[in-house]
Amino acid sequence: MNNGSSSSFDPTASLEEAARMTRKDCFQFFCGPSVQCFTECCRKLELALTPYDTLRLSRRLGVSSSEFLDDFTEIKSGSRHGFPEVFLKMQDTEEKLCPFVSKQGCVVYEDRPGACRTYPLGRASSKNRLTNINEEFFFVVRESHCRGFEQNKTWSVDEWLSDQDLEEYNRFNDLLMELYMLGFRSRSGELSTQRLQMFMMACYNLDKFREFIFRSSFLTKFEFSPERASSLETDDSCLLEFAFEWLKLALFRIPTLKLRNNPEQEVCDSSS
Ligand code: SF4
Ligand code: SF4
Repeated sequence: MNNGSSSSFDPTASLEEAARMTRKDCFQFFCGPSVQCFTECCRKLELALTPYDTLRLSRRLGVSSSEFLDDFTEIKSGSRHGFPEVFLKMQDTEEKLCPFVSKQGCVVYEDRPGACRTYPLGRASSKNRLTNINEEFFFVVRESHCRGFEQNKTWSVDEWLSDQDLEEYNRFNDLLMELYMLGFRSRSGELSTQRLQMFMMACYNLDKFREFIFRSSFLTKFEFSPERASSLETDDSCLLEFAFEWLKLALFRIPTLKLRNNPEQEVCDSSS
């Protein structure tokens, strides 16, 4: 079921011990109903959800972002980067099954979280501060119960990423990591409750963030082309991408947006 590799953020952790792989490197693995341990890994997980995971799952289930957060997640604080983290809530039974697992497999397969797609690989990425380019490497996460490594199928990392449709997941994950890194460097553990709420709304409660943009004076304060405003209203991925731009401005005063008419205005006024 390809899961269990929920990536966590620890900028000081050493990954030297794990064999680093590039996109061209190969590994042996197969997962599917024919494998003896099928669905065994979809339980007792600490499965961190990214904003893009939350968006995909809430749309898949046909519920609002608020309903999804209330019914399917647990929010934890105390991370090293200072931002709250969202975890998928396992069922409240002894088996602690994932809410989306069935005997036939994952019922949200096409929209399953990025961590479920990435396993048995892990991916580490960070932005090179000199070149401003994201650098990444991969490593194999070998869980002892997983029989997938005994199957006779070989993939290059590139083939796996493409098979699991991970490009968009990784793109949004990199935007989140960038924010985490800013939080880590600027000690966002000290951010006010109001700003942490802004982070939760913009990243995880996209419906509410859309309301915030379109039912306030937001669009009159900043320069937006009509095309962009229209995309924000109708396209969830555009809105989520914009949420990261907005948070860089609102939380870290990085000038990602232009104010209309009055460039001297305090940009963070708009976050209140
Ligand atoms: S092969 Fe590994 S990833 Fe697939 S179901 Fe079994 S334990 Fe899970
Ligand atoms: S979301 Fe799907 S693949 Fe991931 S743990 Fe749950 S059932 Fe397994």
